[in-house]
Amino acid sequence: MATLDKVQPLEAVARRVEAARAEGKTVALANGAFDLLHAGHVRYLEGAKALADVLVVAVNTDRSVRLAKGAERPLVPEAERAELVAALACTDLVLLFDEPDVRVVLRRLRPEVHVKGTDYTEETVPERDELAAWGGRVAIAGDAKAHSTTERAAAVQGRPSARLEALLVCPRCHGALAWETGAARCPACRLRFPVNGGIPEMDPGEPY
Ligand SMILES: [Zn+2]
Repeated sequence: MATLDKVQPLEAVARRVEAARAEGKTVALANGAFDLLHAGHVRYLEGAKALADVLVVAVNTDRSVRLAKGAERPLVPEAERAELVAALACTDLVLLFDEPDVRVVLRRLRPEVHVKGTDYTEETVPERDELAAWGGRVAIAGDAKAHSTTERAAAVQGRPSARLEALLVCPRCHGALAWETGAARCPACRLRFPVNGGIPEMDPGEPY
């Protein structure tokens, strides 16, 4: 199927899923923002495809990414994120979803398997309670290596200007910060803060 033919509204995806089921095929649902597609995303989606005949990928709209990850994200608009996911050989169908989680999509498509990445365990998948209604199951796919777009985006966006660095202080103690690419350290608090759009994020500060 041509890449852009794979990207459809929920109802059109539901019709294709029903047609596949009529042929005895099983369906896996994966979901995510897929902002700056990376190898971790590909391994997750290939792992999901291995669990069923048809892989449907629900991609967060720009609005829902902003709500979850802040105003600086996504870096790539939803139409392009959906197109990139659709271009993968393992992907059969793509839809955009605007809700904070993927429950609406799950209830409509009733996939045999709902596949999440390795940032979840089978016990922590937020929508896992939905699947009992139709006998679906949760599975985890992909590798556990760090490919986090949040961290890479901070590194790509780089450090603030030297003038701004001199003005910025530790969000916790308001002391001077030591700067590195994509992060700022507070020697007094012994915390490292990710830098997003040139501004240190209060949360999560991590010890170093
Ligand atoms: Zn501090």
